[in-house]
Amino acid sequence: MNVLAIGAHPDDIEVYCAGTLLKYKQQGHNIFIALTTSGNIGSNEYENREAIAAQREQEQLEAAKVLGAEVRFLRFDDQGLQDTPETRRAVINAIRWANPDVILAHYPEDPSTDHAVTGRIVSEVMLSIPGKLIPADEPPISKNPSLFYYTSAAGVGFLPDVYVDTTDVFPLKKEALAKHTSQFNWMDVYQSHNLLNIMEINDKFRGLQAGCEYAEGFRAFRIHGYMPNFKLLP
Ligand SMILES: [Zn+2]
Repeated sequence: MNVLAIGAHPDDIEVYCAGTLLKYKQQGHNIFIALTTSGNIGSNEYENREAIAAQREQEQLEAAKVLGAEVRFLRFDDQGLQDTPETRRAVINAIRWANPDVILAHYPEDPSTDHAVTGRIVSEVMLSIPGKLIPADEPPISKNPSLFYYTSAAGVGFLPDVYVDTTDVFPLKKEALAKHTSQFNWMDVYQSHNLLNIMEINDKFRGLQAGCEYAEGFRAFRIHGYMPNFKLLP
């Protein structure tokens, strides 16, 4: 199978769903990551947006090596993502590029606007994936992927339908997230929790709900013709 994880920023995939990607990888599946922005305002330690984006893309590629994933950067601006014909086209291209059986994406009710808009665009374009008349650059694909939303930031307003036990891959997930070095000093100053702690608290909490040590929780996207196949989760 091909599995595509779509996020808004470098580090989102490693915070929210990399454990599940690692489980898929263990089972021999192909892993793809697409990011709508390269997090180009996500630091005060660089001179300009280009420098931040270059650093963060490099960190994402390092993290992807740990996960064994291929990465596609859509390169829209951080903190201001909108649902436009241009962003939809880029997301359709990314989905067709990965030719996925399963898509993991942000929850459209996530309190972060970039996260929510990314999740909303993915949901909106699901019916466009096979359409040959849809404006896009990649050719249509004939698969009917199952879409699962991963947890919102800090789990706010998110009650999972289903859980994946990620206990055995948790150390590797942490190793992947630790590749996002530009985010540590910055978040330690401006946010109440360190990025690694945010991830660990969330996964322990979901593990508590799921009856294991660490877990990731998902909600299913359901629309006529696109009912998710829960058996495809690892
Ligand atoms: Zn994010």
